[in-house]
Amino acid sequence: MDIVILGAGQAAAAMAAKLRAQGHSGGITVIGDEDAPPYQRPPLSKAYLLGEMPLERLTLRADDWWTDQDIRLLTGTRATRIDRDAKQVETSAGPIRYDQLALTLGASPRRLPAVLGGDLAGVHTVRGIAHIEQAKPELTPGKRLVVIGGGYIGLEAAAVAHKLGLEVTVIEAAPRILGRVAAPETADLIRNLHLAHGVTILEGIGIDALEGDTHVRAVRLADGRRLPADLVVLGIGVAPETALAAEAGLTIDNGIACDAQGRTSDPAIWAAGDCASFPWQGQRLRLESVGNAIDMAELVAENMLGASKDYAPKPWFWSDQYDAKLQIAGLNTGYDQIVTRPGEPAQASSVWYYRDGQLIAVDALNDARAYMVGKCLIEAGKTADPARVANPDIPVKELL
Ligand SMILES: Cc1cc2nc3c(=O)[nH]c(=O)nc-3n(C[C@H](O)[C@H](O)[C@H](O)COP(=O)(O)OP(=O)(O)OC[C@H]3O[C@@H](n4cnc5c(N)ncnc54)[C@H](O)[C@@H]3O)c2cc1C
Repeated sequence: MDIVILGAGQAAAAMAAKLRAQGHSGGITVIGDEDAPPYQRPPLSKAYLLGEMPLERLTLRADDWWTDQDIRLLTGTRATRIDRDAKQVETSAGPIRYDQLALTLGASPRRLPAVLGGDLAGVHTVRGIAHIEQAKPELTPGKRLVVIGGGYIGLEAAAVAHKLGLEVTVIEAAPRILGRVAAPETADLIRNLHLAHGVTILEGIGIDALEGDTHVRAVRLADGRRLPADLVVLGIGVAPETALAAEAGLTIDNGIACDAQGRTSDPAIWAAGDCASFPWQGQRLRLESVGNAIDMAELVAENMLGASKDYAPKPWFWSDQYDAKLQIAGLNTGYDQIVTRPGEPAQASSVWYYRDGQLIAVDALNDARAYMVGKCLIEAGKTADPARVANPDIPVKELL
């Protein structure tokens, strides 16, 4: 049986490895349009952007691993069409036949339209190595950087740029940073961190346009203010890569729609990672995280070989900003109660999310113990009494 994996990122690497580990001895071909072999993206807005991690350490598997495992890895190769009747993928390197196909195509960063100055030089996104190589030479001390979007990636880029000596302003159109992903209590912790470092954060203000002849020179805000800018980083979210699947007639619903086992509307085609949505607790969920990319890809690998297992996501995420580490366990969707818990040392703190009295998520800032305890409770379907959580005199381990 020949298995073809489209997209050569975090999910693809995990899926290919799992297929071999599960004893699949047929063909495996991994096709990716980037020049690099599969690599981890989180350092792109953290240590790698800061220049503290070499390129080799981004790579998920050494070059000889692919040959040792007898996996055909085609980098720099774009898939352009899926012919479901012929069970064949058209690519820039020619047609490739499959018995089973997996789509691990990731997501693309949203850009500003050209009419708003989105195509000016000096306007950067942060998704792939190529984006970082473009942005890095401009990240020099004294430059004025405007980050548009106060989500995790924008805030991480802001922290790195500040460390590199740039003058940084973050603009968030929503009433507050991290509005989509975290409670106000967590946003407050992160905002304070940036303010303490001297980064400016403007919330509840949209942008009108970016100005400049060929290179960006300023950001014009919706209230008429004009912020001089030597460069701009866009952190305005990503869109799942669905075009190939849609063109092939697969069902799209907040990403490539899969069943609980990761199968798309074509039984010979599967999907995993950022591009895929799956049913969960009566809704359709799509996650953008390393943990999800690996877990879902490994599950799909097993199911391609006949395991018939349902996906039960165990969401976790992290964000590094300055010297602070935020760790997140669970999903806070629909929370109706928040408990904050001061941690040890004084800069540590955690935010606990409840829905109908049940613990559903924890954000822990510089508090690895609170994160671990919260994660264990959530994954075991247990909860912790909010009054005990809020009491710092009760050791966090006693909440288990
Ligand atoms: C800057 C940054 C920081 C992040 N930080 C964190 C973090 O701290 N913690 C965390 O959990 N997650 C983080 N993430 C998210 C995490 O990296 C992603 O969720 C993960 O990479 C998703 O894996 P994937 O395999 O689904 O997609 P990707 O890793 O994006 O791989 C998809 C690949 O498919 C390729 N592709 C797309 N279309 C085609 C085509 N037609 N033909 C061939 N190839 C194609 C893409 O170019 C890409 O190489 C971060 C992401 C970014 C960008």
